[in-house]
Amino acid sequence: MIAISSAKGGVGKSTVTANLAVALQRMGYRVGILDADIYGPSQPKMFGVEGYLPDAVQEEGTDRIVPAESMDIRLMSIGFFIKPTDALLWRGAMAVSALKQMIHQTKWGTLDFLLADLPPGTGDVHLSIIGELKIDSAVIVSTPQQVAVADVVRGVEMFRNENVNIPVAGIIENMAWFTPEELPENRYYLFGKGGARRFAEENGIDLLGEIPIIQSIMEGADTGTPSVSIDARVEPYYREIADRIVDKVVK
Ligand code: ADP
Repeated sequence: MIAISSAKGGVGKSTVTANLAVALQRMGYRVGILDADIYGPSQPKMFGVEGYLPDAVQEEGTDRIVPAESMDIRLMSIGFFIKPTDALLWRGAMAVSALKQMIHQTKWGTLDFLLADLPPGTGDVHLSIIGELKIDSAVIVSTPQQVAVADVVRGVEMFRNENVNIPVAGIIENMAWFTPEELPENRYYLFGKGGARRFAEENGIDLLGEIPIIQSIMEGADTGTPSVSIDARVEPYYREIADRIVDKVVK
């Protein structure tokens, strides 16, 4: 299991998770997504399965819940169990106990990769969620503006803490630059250049890749089809990241 985390919301953690899942699926792997973002579960929308109501089945005397399936990716989300309007009420213990059930009862079948979309941040709730998951490797997503702030360091430290001890595969810089349609050779580093690379060097982690701002990435997130599957310009960025992750995780 690979955990995708971020220090703050809005940096593209969920979008990266969805597109990385599609990239891995297109490389021939069996992929699942566990959407554990209790503060804003967005994977159902990213894959166009918002209304899905998970079935419960019996397996060897225990209740199991059946994940949704879209684009050959299995998906279980805390969003299937709470109304978006109730999400704010779900902080803390109640959300974690619902999550635990989802984590332990989902009938995934055989998977090569399970990507966990974690809630943003590094507090107690995160630690208890991480404690429930069997995470092999953690990936941190940041934007150029956010990478400079102390929260991202805290994110790395959370995984490296001796009681947690999860290897950090590296950092992904999202929204790294903007290229206008009519000037395809130009890159505008709206929020600064090279921040994630510096951060990676300073903290002894790898830079897994940089993803520019691309309109189809935003549109794909809104229309239930991750951009990797519809925009040929987008796949190489994710493919490179997926290759690096596969190298690190599959020995
Ligand atoms: P988070 O999960 O970190 O809260 P989201 O994945 O929901 O963030 O992304 C926040 C917003 O930014 C969404 O509207 C998404 O479509 C958009 N977005 C994310 N990455 C990109 C990108 N590389 N290019 C364009 N839009 C992006």
